Amino acid sequence: MAETEYDVIILGAGLAGAFAAWELQKHLQVLVIDQPSIIGKGTGVSGGLINPMMAQKGRRVWEAEAALDAFKRIADEAHVPRNIIRMDGLFRPAQNPEQANWFKFSAETSPHLGVWYDETVLKAQFPSLDAPFGGIWVHSGGTVKINHLAKWLISEANVDHQSVGITAILEETTGVRIETKDGDVFSAKVCLSCLGNGLLNFDPFKGLDLHPVKGQVEVVDPLHVSSDIPSLSGGMYTAIFEDQWICGSSFRHHYNDLNPSYTDRNLILSGIRSMISELPSEIESTSEVGIRITIPGTRLPMIGPVSDKGNLWVLTGLGSKGLLMAPYLAENLMDWLQNPHFIPTQLTIRRHRRQ
Ligand SMILES: Cc1cc2nc3c(=O)[nH]c(=O)nc-3n(C[C@H](O)[C@H](O)[C@H](O)COP(=O)(O)OP(=O)(O)OC[C@H]3O[C@@H](n4cnc5c(N)ncnc54)[C@H](O)[C@@H]3O)c2cc1C
Repeated sequence: MAETEYDVIILGAGLAGAFAAWELQKHLQVLVIDQPSIIGKGTGVSGGLINPMMAQKGRRVWEAEAALDAFKRIADEAHVPRNIIRMDGLFRPAQNPEQANWFKFSAETSPHLGVWYDETVLKAQFPSLDAPFGGIWVHSGGTVKINHLAKWLISEANVDHQSVGITAILEETTGVRIETKDGDVFSAKVCLSCLGNGLLNFDPFKGLDLHPVKGQVEVVDPLHVSSDIPSLSGGMYTAIFEDQWICGSSFRHHYNDLNPSYTDRNLILSGIRSMISELPSEIESTSEVGIRITIPGTRLPMIGPVSDKGNLWVLTGLGSKGLLMAPYLAENLMDWLQNPHFIPTQLTIRRHRRQ
C-alpha cells in the first residue's frame, strides 16, 4: 500500500479539477485523481460554447468579464492549441419578437460582450443563417473542445496524476485520506472534490443541494453549407470546428439511465435546422451524454469546506457555464483556500433544507 503526502489532492479532472490544478500547481504540490471511465462526466462532451450572454434573455452572465479574462489568460499560459479553442465569436438568433427585445436590451447594456444584428445585417454577413427576428453577435464568445481542453491542462500542469476510481474520502483533524480501487491510500493537508455527478456517491457531500441534469450532444461530420457560418447558440447550439460539428444540447431533469435518447437526438437536430435551413434532411451523428450539476436557487457554482475541520473542500455546480465558471473559480482558489471568508456569499455551501 503506497502512502504519499501532498499539499492538495484534487479529485476529478473535469473542467473544475483541470482549471483548479492549473492554478494550484503554481504554489502547491498537487495530486489529481480521476477514474478512467467517462460515463456521466460533464466534461466528457466533445465541445461547446463559451458564451457570456446566456439564458432566455441573453443577459450578461455573473462575473462574465473576469471569467473571460481568466479563461483567456490560462489558455495562453498553457499554450492551448488553436484547434481546441477559437475565440472568434458566436451568433445567438432570437426565437421570437419578445426575445428579440430582450436581446436588444442586453446588447445595449453590454456592448463589450455582444452587439445586436437585425436580419439585414446578419444576411449580409452570414447568408446561410436563418434568423428572421435578428439576434446577438456575441463577439466576446468562442468555441471550445471541452474534453480536449481539460485533458490538455492536466497534461501541461506540473501535477502528479492517478487514473483510478476513488472508494473513500476520509476527513481527519489534520488532513484528508483518499482510498482508491487499487487499494492505494493518498493523503494531503487539503482535498478539493471536483467529482461532478460522482459527489452524490460519497457521504461528506450527501446533504449538499446538488441537482444533476442529464444532457446530450450530437457529433456530426462537417456539413456542406453554401457560405461560412459561425458557431450558433439558440434553443440548441452548434459548436463548429473544421473536423466536426458538435450540436447540443438537451436538458433532462428526470432520467432513469445515462443512455443517449433518440428523442433528444431529433430535438437537437431539428433545433439546428431551424437556424440553418439548407441542411440535409438526413444527418448521421454520434451521441454523447453527460451530467451537469446545478445548484437550485442560485444557478451559480458552489465552493468551500464541507465541515468545520476545513480540510475537505467541494467545487461544483458549474451547470452549463463550465467554460466560464471553472477558470473564474480557479483564479480565486488559492486566495479562498487561505481565507475561506473571502468566498462570495452566493457561492458558499448550500445544504438541502430539512422538511
Ligand atoms: C451535454 C452537455 C453540454 C454542455 N455544453 C456546454 C457548453 O456549451 N458550454 C459550457 O461552458 N459548458 C457546457 N456544459 C457544461 C460543462 O461541460 C460542465 O459544467 C463541466 O464539464 C462540469 O465540470 P466538472 O469538473 O464540475 O464535472 P465533471 O466534468 O463531471 O468532472 C467530474 C470528474 O470526476 C470524476 N469522478 C467522478 N467520480 C469519481 C470517482 N469515484 N473516482 C474518480 N473520479 C471520479 C469523473 O471521471 C470526472 O472526470 C455541457 C455539459 C453537458 C453535459
